[in-house]
Amino acid sequence: MTAKDKRFPLPLSSVVNQKSKAIEPGGRSTAMPQTAMRNAAHHLSGTLAARAAQKTDVKSPQGAGKTDVGLSPSLLSGPLVSEGIRKAMVMRVAQQGVKDATVLAALQAVPRHLFLESGMASQAYVDASLPIGHHQTISQPYIVARMIEVLRNGTNLGRVLEIGTGCGYQAAVLSVMTREVYSIERIKALHELAKSNLRPMRIANIRLLYGDGMLGLPQEAPFDGIILAAAGLEVPQSLLKQLRVGGRLVAPVGGRHQVLQLIERVSNYEWKSSVLEQCHFVPLHSGVI
Ligand code: SAH
Repeated sequence: MTAKDKRFPLPLSSVVNQKSKAIEPGGRSTAMPQTAMRNAAHHLSGTLAARAAQKTDVKSPQGAGKTDVGLSPSLLSGPLVSEGIRKAMVMRVAQQGVKDATVLAALQAVPRHLFLESGMASQAYVDASLPIGHHQTISQPYIVARMIEVLRNGTNLGRVLEIGTGCGYQAAVLSVMTREVYSIERIKALHELAKSNLRPMRIANIRLLYGDGMLGLPQEAPFDGIILAAAGLEVPQSLLKQLRVGGRLVAPVGGRHQVLQLIERVSNYEWKSSVLEQCHFVPLHSGVI
């Protein structure tokens, strides 16, 4: 991990509606559903405007095969970015039981199609995981929302660590309601992809790191929340130790059959674990490639 890798300052302004108290980072959420939807709409247009303004600066880390889905005028004005399509996705997520209005607003606000290759973009607002290359996937919107809802437990978080950046989508959603998001990815090409996806969105509070997330990030610990986007047979001990007392960790755990686990650090020496529901994630691997 180089010092350069750690610096990823992106202005927060294009993701968070500065005028709104509802999704203000670092404060307690007071979002009403209507406010949340208004914020989401505001956020959506701001982010796309920022992305469009960066048109010539966006580079493809995966070579000539990738075209940028956010930049074609037809996509910017077409059905992919229609508020209705996003709203429908958010409603499906809500119907599955996610109640946190701040999380739902963030889900509506972050343009998921900008994290996918052009060939996949038309499916961006289907509630499903989709391939992002290197045998990895962008997580299903429902599970992203559910995990963040459990992680924040109604409060905006200070410092959060994500293991498994992938294309950067979940980090962007997290950034809306978190003071600082640290996200680690072990596949260099995906770390670069996430940087390229997030750069034009100018999100100031995300730090992307290339490394083995199983080791955590001791130099920035303790974390108020830790979220894993890949499933191990158990949660690595090093991550448990990097959780602040009172902090929460949410992780998929298992092999073929996986469950979502919530671990709360009760004291210096005590962690409480609960099983939430079944899930399906790519595996957690050690080392970097
Ligand atoms: N957060 C993503 C999901 C990415 S998929 C989203 O926004 O949708 C899970 C990612 O975890 C993959 O990119 C995989 O390479 C990564 N991963 C697996 N083991 C890891 C480890 N030990 N450290 C860091 N990243 C890891």
